[in-house]
Amino acid sequence: MIELPDFAPLKTTETVRALTRASLDALDHVLVVVGKNAPAGGLEKLPHGKPLAVLLARATRRGDVIATSRAPNRRATGITAARFEASTAFTALSWGAKVVRECVRDQPSSLGVTFLGLDAEAERRAIDGLLAAAHAAAFALPKFKSKPDSPAANSLKKLHLLGARTKVDLAAARAQALGNNVARWFTALPPNVKTAEHYRTAIAELAAARDIRYRFYGERELEKLGAGAFLAVSRGNATRDAGIVHLSYRPRMRRPAVTLVGKGVIFDTGGTNLKPFIHMLDMHTDMQGSAVALGTLLALADTGAPYRVDAWLALTENRLAPNAYKSQDLVRAANGTTIQVIHTDAEGRMVLADTLALAARDEPQLIIDYATLTGSCIQAVTERYSGVFSNRSAANALLTAAGAASGERVWPFPMDDDFDEALKSDIADIKQCSTENAGDHILAARFLSRFVPAATPWIHVDLSAGQHKGGLGHIPTDITGFGVRFTLELLQGSSRGPDDLAERLSA
Ligand SMILES: [Zn+2]
Repeated sequence: MIELPDFAPLKTTETVRALTRASLDALDHVLVVVGKNAPAGGLEKLPHGKPLAVLLARATRRGDVIATSRAPNRRATGITAARFEASTAFTALSWGAKVVRECVRDQPSSLGVTFLGLDAEAERRAIDGLLAAAHAAAFALPKFKSKPDSPAANSLKKLHLLGARTKVDLAAARAQALGNNVARWFTALPPNVKTAEHYRTAIAELAAARDIRYRFYGERELEKLGAGAFLAVSRGNATRDAGIVHLSYRPRMRRPAVTLVGKGVIFDTGGTNLKPFIHMLDMHTDMQGSAVALGTLLALADTGAPYRVDAWLALTENRLAPNAYKSQDLVRAANGTTIQVIHTDAEGRMVLADTLALAARDEPQLIIDYATLTGSCIQAVTERYSGVFSNRSAANALLTAAGAASGERVWPFPMDDDFDEALKSDIADIKQCSTENAGDHILAARFLSRFVPAATPWIHVDLSAGQHKGGLGHIPTDITGFGVRFTLELLQGSSRGPDDLAERLSA
């Protein structure tokens, strides 16, 4: 069984009182955020500010924005001064990651943050970046070492905002971080630890702690539902534990509002069309879509979202096995669509086909799906952006804006009907994919659209930014958990919930 950690271990507080000598003495580390409008000599007036001002001036001449020193008190409190000039959410998050990395170098347990010369908007942005980065840095991804790391990483336990003029929604920042940490933690688990059975048991435990309804459709039930596309992939597994998890969060409402769907391929060997070693190496992360859907649902539940949220997670491996599916197999999905199999490594769209079809039966107002789906999406936008697609053309501007506002940046791709010519089949309703690789991310989205009713607004996120060497934005680890923050912005920042969003998408 999987033992679950505290997914949001960092405690945060906010006080109106600014930094004093006494509060400095009570902290392991203090960060002074210096804005463009910092008064001349402002830093010098802070406790131990004079040497720090000299260091920061020197750093600035070097082109850096950070300087660190130590107070001459008994605790030898570390003090960092950092200039803040970020103009976008993404640069604020990246700034946050850089500053937090500097502040936790000596493994402090407590960090105080104070502000000097920031206008309200800059202060809000700086706090957003710092909180997100601190929550991410304070959380450890799974490790299985006999002896713990020394010096201990992820030491930070408490962050105190001192004298900010903004009233910060600390609970919302915590929920968002929890969602991201959940997504990263499960994605990082080794594939033999994260079996479909263990993964879903852990999901059930997280759901039960929040009064979220949990239901599991195993292979036998999926057979009755005619989910041949999912079963074509799961057939090659050595064990019979694959299936689709359905979670529902129900705050006194009848109609499902937003439904999140996630690809949960626990290990992708490519199947019969086997991947070469280097492309298979990290394929335990091919379930990140399901983990992002799960993390988003938990974050929405923790913030008490006033609308229904469902999640449908497709959990299986894609294995090389005597009875595994193969090219030219004929498969029938749960909505009756017949599929000509081309390439067994295009398993993500197969398992999503049935999962989308089942999710759509409840007639949600909006479906959002997440999948580490195609290499061609990475070719197109690199691992810094994720690709987005929708069956509503009005979505593109909204999605791009939510990406920019959240700092989890997305880029929309075309969804015109004529792309379907590449998926025309002589023997079935549709080909699984083209034999050419060009635009595979677009063809995958076109394929998936066949399993979402035209009446249902739908957004598809191809998680090309799910993994980025050295981290991305506020995230310090290669696995980014990309998508939770973006979706929360889409549902709670850029719109007033799924109702409003669905209406705008259809405008
Ligand atoms: Zn694959």
